[in-house]
Amino acid sequence: MNLTLEQIQDFKGKYPRQIWSLFFSEMWERFCFYGMRGMLVFFMISQLKFNEVDANLQYGATQAFVYAFTFVGGIFADKILGFRKSLFWGGLLMIVGSMILATNPHDYFFLGISFTVVGTGFFKPNISTMVGKLYKNGDNRTDAGFSLFYAGINLGALLGGYFCVAIGKGEMFSNLIPEDKRWNVAFGLAAVVMVISLVNFIFTQRRLGPIGLQPMQILKNGQEVAIAKWKEYGVYVLSLIFVPLIMIMVAKPEYTDYFMYTVGPLTLIYLFYEMSLVDKIERNKLFAALVFIIFSIVFWGIYEQSGGSLSIFAAHNLNQDLLGLDPNGVNNSGGAFFILLVAIPIGLLWIWLNKKKLEPNTIIKFGLGFIFLGLGFYAIFATKFFANAAGVTSLSIFTVALFIITLGEMCISPIGLSIMTKLSTQKLQGMMMGMWFLASAYGQYVAGLIGANMATAREDASNIEKLTTYTSGYKDLGLYAVIAGIVLIVISPLVKKLMHEVR
Ligand code: GLN
Repeated sequence: MNLTLEQIQDFKGKYPRQIWSLFFSEMWERFCFYGMRGMLVFFMISQLKFNEVDANLQYGATQAFVYAFTFVGGIFADKILGFRKSLFWGGLLMIVGSMILATNPHDYFFLGISFTVVGTGFFKPNISTMVGKLYKNGDNRTDAGFSLFYAGINLGALLGGYFCVAIGKGEMFSNLIPEDKRWNVAFGLAAVVMVISLVNFIFTQRRLGPIGLQPMQILKNGQEVAIAKWKEYGVYVLSLIFVPLIMIMVAKPEYTDYFMYTVGPLTLIYLFYEMSLVDKIERNKLFAALVFIIFSIVFWGIYEQSGGSLSIFAAHNLNQDLLGLDPNGVNNSGGAFFILLVAIPIGLLWIWLNKKKLEPNTIIKFGLGFIFLGLGFYAIFATKFFANAAGVTSLSIFTVALFIITLGEMCISPIGLSIMTKLSTQKLQGMMMGMWFLASAYGQYVAGLIGANMATAREDASNIEKLTTYTSGYKDLGLYAVIAGIVLIVISPLVKKLMHEVR
């Protein structure tokens, strides 16, 4: 089936057909990724006998490197491999990583994790870029497509995050799996689903026409030739060299700090260099993309409290007044659950509003995202007023807050993916998508700093004191989010100018 780009992009209805295949490949990849992420800290503490602080620091380092690598994966895709080969190579590395962990997680833990880090860097940004390629410039169904894709991400995250650790801990299938093999099976499951993701992608490729093929090299005389094979193999070899380097870097938390201090400025310098090579309109658009990227750091810095300080808050200060559910379970998976509930309706809402000529543009959507985030954090603050004398408050109200935050996420995260594909020049699509995810590496990093700052409540402080400290921290975060939203809305005319015809 040799489709042309026009045939793919001239689809009828709400979604292009190919989006479903990309949805499933990404869903399984996220299953593998979140499955592994969900096991990291628990495995390090219970099996590798790390103390809590070290385990958390190493978890943070892994997260930073994963998202930082998306930038590298994006650049190599743009310049040498193309999106398809990058995705495939990344997927293979993730399979190798999971298989190493499945074979001997105790002795080769960091080796397996490092393979997964590099692999994710090659896979994650490039599949998102391909979703954007299914749409013509200016197609107002793009945001709805990314919302659907985002549902796939969260379905994978929810399933992987639940099943892998439950199998490892022996909460599931414990009568089928011998005790000493539970972790092997759990990591093995991540490998199996990643194989499914790649097999699914192999079938998808046939219907992608020219999307994601290797770029051509343009000679001085304007002639186009295939990229030299040695360059392609060079990328494969280089990425394998990164694996032991990451192992060393993840092992020492200070390295993460140095890494974060240097990588951001270097990528900015590189972006400015690339910006100097394009025409003014393209440069303006890239600049607008940078504004979204920088704001997204603030968003993730606040949002990602969920993995850090909010899990402590949930453990100490929330009751079980919602169907008897465990507060930490709700904190961990409530967000993904709500995304699944609202992703498609919100996407369709954008299409409907567009028909009525009422659809907000991307800047306003971002602004709304921050305002929802802020209101959500204010709602967490408000749980304080429902606390009992022991400092324990309502999980139900917390869950409402989580829902409001999720509405904010839907206005930022899928919309951000979508706008990256619209504002990037043809040749920088992968890199800009990588930069979008790199920003979330910084967001997670900032989140850790904010969380640590908030955890000033002493270990031996009473629950009431902890409640007061944490909720007042969340009130401040809520305020910052609302301010960021207002700033975005105020500067929207300026950013709009930079975006030219893109909405
Ligand atoms: N939860 C989303 C995902 O896994 C967004 C991640 C991010 O950008 N930090 O894709």
